[in-house]
Order: sequence, then C-alpha cells, then structure tokens
Amino acid sequence: MTTKHFAKKKWGQNFLADTNLLKRIVRTIDPQPTDNVLEIGPGEGALTELLLPAVGNLTAIEIDPRLVEFLENRDDLRDCHFIHGDVLGLELSELPIPTPVRVMGNIPYNITSPILFWLIEQRQYWTAAFLMTQREVAERLTGKVGTKAYGRLTVMIGAFLEVKYCFTIPPTVFQPRPRVDSAFIALRKLDQPLVPDEKFKQFEKIVGVAFSQRRKMLRNSLAGFQLSARGLENIELTRRPETLTTEEFVSLIP
Ligand code: SAM
Repeated sequence: MTTKHFAKKKWGQNFLADTNLLKRIVRTIDPQPTDNVLEIGPGEGALTELLLPAVGNLTAIEIDPRLVEFLENRDDLRDCHFIHGDVLGLELSELPIPTPVRVMGNIPYNITSPILFWLIEQRQYWTAAFLMTQREVAERLTGKVGTKAYGRLTVMIGAFLEVKYCFTIPPTVFQPRPRVDSAFIALRKLDQPLVPDEKFKQFEKIVGVAFSQRRKMLRNSLAGFQLSARGLENIELTRRPETLTTEEFVSLIP
C-alpha cells in the first residue's frame, strides 16, 4: 500500500501501510454492527475503510483539510461522516451519531497525553477506546508500581482508566517511518474513578510534585503540602513516589 499525500510532521502524520497490521488492529477492536465509532485522525482512511463495513455508525475527525477533502471524495467512504477539526476541541455529546461511542485512533504521538486527558473528561460518552502510542508511553501507562516505567502518567491515568498493552508495532509498517516503536493499547473506564472531581486538582498537584523529584522521599518533596491524617497514618513518608499505588496517592489528599 502506498500513501498519496505528503506527510505533515506537525500533525504527526505517519500513515499505516501494512495490510496485516491493519487487519490485526481491526481484529483486536472486534467491531460490531451495533457499534457507534469515532475515529481520531483517519489520515487517508486506511483503518476507516476496514471499520466502516463492520460497524453501525462511523464518524471520523481529521485536522488536515487536504485529507478531509480526499476522504470526502472517496466513494467507498461515503457512509462515513467526516468532521474537519481538532479532536481536543470536540464534545462527544455533540457528535452526529448516538453516544456512547467506541473510540479508535492512530493518533499523533505528540498529543497522546492531551488525548488521554480529553478521554477522561469525555468519559461519560464512550465505552471503550483503542489507541496507538509510542511504545515507551504505552509501557509507562501500564507500568507496575515500583518499576522504572511507573510514574506520573501511570498514576494520573490509572485513577480513571484501565490500560491494556495489546501488542508492539515496528516502525516498518508506517509511511514515513517513525524513529521509535509503537504500541496498540486498549482503554476501559474504571467503574468508579478513584479521585472525585472536586479533588482532582489537588491530586494532580501532589502526584506531579512527588514525581518531579523521583529520587526524593515524600517527606521532602511533599513538605509544603497539607496531607490527610488517614494517609499519614498509613503511608511512611520515607517512601519514594514510585512505591505508592494510585490508591495510596489518593488517600493522601485531605
Ligand atoms: N489513521 C491514519 C493511518 O493510520 O494511516 C493516519 C494516522 S496519523 C499517525 C495521525 C492522523 O491524525 C493524521 O491524519 C493527522 O492529520 C491527524 N491529526 C493530527 N492532529 C489531530 C487532531 N488534533 N485532531 C484530529 N486529527 C488530528
């Protein structure tokens, strides 16, 4: 498969150009005729064309006007609804298809974190999400407590979502090829977020500061914070941040 458009770096355009990999992605998503799907960044439509016949409704949001025009002119994709815009400015409740949706995206790697936080914000309106990320980011998202990969992102995202590392993707399946390995991940929402909305800002601050000084004991890095009595009772502040579970971080919020 060859791609037709000059890839724009600023929009993270690395197009999938490997039929086997595309089929593997679709098998993993397991699309159903009753599904309403939002695709983020359809590019030239490599995944879109496989998803469309398998789902009930498909809407795709693409930031690059050249690609939107190209996609809208593809006869085989005329049942897909294309939106020209930035996914980060999109409200899922305003989509032209019923919610909740399943979300799928081979997304630009430079906006992976904003997209994850956007998914958390919009969580009322989706049931499952599948993303491609840099391998290193996928490893951080699924890092086990106490390991090098475990950090701010693991804890922040882990308070809301469960992340499953599905498989690794080599640079060779893309055009142009990225410099790093990629990974395919599946996201599900926790039944109940571990952090209530009103405590989110404090949680973000505590986790951010603790991990900005990863080698320091919590009693030093969190010296300026008021912490909950319950947390202080149960957590030795001589510990370092990577030894705390998400639940333990949450318990430190007053
Ligand atoms: N899905 C296609 C594929 O697999 O071949 C393209 C993947 S490419 C890595 C990422 C796509 O997302 C590009 O088409 C890019 O223009 C688009 N994109 C980048 N930033 C975006 C944003 N903020 N909102 C929507 N689409 C975006």
